[in-house]
Amino acid sequence: MTAQLIDGKATAAAIHEEIRAEVEQLKGEHGIVPGLATVLVGENPASQFYVRSKQKRCAEVGIRSFGHNLPETASQEEVEGLVAELNANPEVHGILVQLPLPKHLDEERVLAAIGIEKDVDGFHPINIGRLAMKGRKPMFVPCTPAGCIELLDRYGVEIEGKEAVVLGRSNIVGLPVAMLLLHRNATITICHSRTKDLPATCRRADILIAAVGRPQMVKADWVKPGAAVIDVGINRVEDPTAKRGYRIVGDVDFEAVKEVAGYLTPVPGGVGPMTIAMLLRNTLTSAKRAAGL
Ligand code: NDP
Repeated sequence: MTAQLIDGKATAAAIHEEIRAEVEQLKGEHGIVPGLATVLVGENPASQFYVRSKQKRCAEVGIRSFGHNLPETASQEEVEGLVAELNANPEVHGILVQLPLPKHLDEERVLAAIGIEKDVDGFHPINIGRLAMKGRKPMFVPCTPAGCIELLDRYGVEIEGKEAVVLGRSNIVGLPVAMLLLHRNATITICHSRTKDLPATCRRADILIAAVGRPQMVKADWVKPGAAVIDVGINRVEDPTAKRGYRIVGDVDFEAVKEVAGYLTPVPGGVGPMTIAMLLRNTLTSAKRAAGL
């Protein structure tokens, strides 16, 4: 069996188009332009790349972006002061603090300083807390986990009543994606570095989400035939034949797993583009909510 490829790039492009049309309408009918502020501290090249990509996509759909770069040496007070300014700016509907922050900064405090109504990354403890509780709704859902669920939905993968296994328990991906699956009435197992028999646990999954950051760790015999496999991992592996000397692979052994799985996301071109699409959607939602629409 060869898995159906879940095309994150095409799905994200379709969502961008939906957002672009809605932004245009919002502007035309109400004079509102959604705004996203990015806060980048230091000069981590990967973070610079991610922030630039987010700003570029904002421009493409008509969302205004406000880029703020602080030096590596910025103090906790400076970063929190900037967040406070952005909280108070009515043109800013979403605030994104690019992680990771330099080591001397207290990430938890910075994230908690973001007003929950502008927390488009969904990492504020209140938003995460609401996500973890039955019958509560967060203002925003974290973007990468939301992107995983959106892909399952748009490809018609049923979630309710299914066995879902999540590899990884980070605050950014593993934990929130497990919570989202639980809200959708899947039965969840969360695995991590101390899980005893990963292959056997993964083989139970109708839906397998891999978010560990280990290149091609998930092998074909870890996958139940017909399962939907969502690969969140982004890993660099050396490749002398590639122009840059490396290539990007996921946490799943794509070539082998595609012969067993029912659905599979590629890396790149799977979950990655969906993360930005969900961020744009959260920013649009925030702008509409701020205007009472
Ligand atoms: P973290 O390093 O924060 O978390 C990794 C998780 O995987 C931890 O829970 C860890 O367990 C677990 N883990 C690590 N090694 C093993 C192992 N050998 N066996 C079982 N579990 C293991 O990573 P993130 O969640 O931030 O990211 C995961 C991957 O997703 C990375 O490749 C990252 O680049 C990618 N990513 C992709 C995004 C996208 O937009 N597509 C966005 C964000 C991340 P423990 O808790 O016990 O340490």
